[in-house]
Amino acid sequence: MQKLGLDLPLLPTTSVGSFPKPPSLARARTDYAKGKITAAALQAEEEKATAFWMEAQEQIGLDVLVDGEQYRGDMVVYFAEHMPGFEIGDLVRSYGNRYYHKPILTGEVRWPGPITVAWWKFAQRCTAKPVKGMLTGPYTVMDWSFNEHYPDRKSACLALAREIRKEVEALLEAGAKIIQIDEPATSVRPEELPLVVEAMQVVTEGLPGYFITHICYGAFRRIYPAMLEIPVDNFDLEMANNQLSLLDLFREHRFRKDISFGVVDVHSHVVEDRATVEQRLEQALQVLQPEQVWVDPDCGLKTRSVEEAQEKLRVVVEAARRLREQYANRSAPAR
Ligand SMILES: [Zn+2]
Repeated sequence: MQKLGLDLPLLPTTSVGSFPKPPSLARARTDYAKGKITAAALQAEEEKATAFWMEAQEQIGLDVLVDGEQYRGDMVVYFAEHMPGFEIGDLVRSYGNRYYHKPILTGEVRWPGPITVAWWKFAQRCTAKPVKGMLTGPYTVMDWSFNEHYPDRKSACLALAREIRKEVEALLEAGAKIIQIDEPATSVRPEELPLVVEAMQVVTEGLPGYFITHICYGAFRRIYPAMLEIPVDNFDLEMANNQLSLLDLFREHRFRKDISFGVVDVHSHVVEDRATVEQRLEQALQVLQPEQVWVDPDCGLKTRSVEEAQEKLRVVVEAARRLREQYANRSAPAR
């Protein structure tokens, strides 16, 4: 990170990516879908909401910021809508309450030019702190789409990887230093882990960035420690909602990369108190070195209310600061 000119405190705080949309933006999206407002009017609301979240993250005191994905509906559909080669299919239900228009690969997938770069620049202009570039990884885009064009899952995934790499290059070119490439689908089919690794290699190999991937909770017992082969610097993992049970795996096989350690549950309306979050972090630090730990919520916060999301972020920052102070005191030279 120093090579990239990034100067972060011990236990940097961040968030996984998505924030809830303020009611005015939710209304604008409905109005736009009904043809009541123009695309420009919708975009103005998205910009307002993004600026609101940038300001909120600054006030809360996070160290590495995100744009909050106010311009996205679904994390896969958003990219499918922007990339030639996809058609958007019918509404399907997956993961309990997630409904989305499942994309269909009907032709050669192609990067059409920068997709997220303008939003990254907009967000970065709002702050002096680093803003993460946020992309959905090739394996997850493939897994959550129908494939009517490529002969098999692997060739679809690798074709996507080659195109998504161009978006990574465009973000780096624009000045992004930290790029998160989400692969939440990784933990669902352990037998395809080698494909996730190969595709991520295509996306990141030789590029000068600090790369993070977010993987949702799943069959970690079957993919750990092999998943550490995914060529990224930092794994962003849901730890809180499974009572930190992954720490047992890390005791068996050392976690040898950086980790963004989820300390608050995003599925619950209840905002954890600071003592609970501090305790989770202390448990993490019994197994992991402080230098490898970032602190964040378990997953995207988009299903929480604006207030709940802010309160959860606040407690993340407070807990990280407390632990940071303790470590600073501990390592101070004795007089
Ligand atoms: Zn997740």
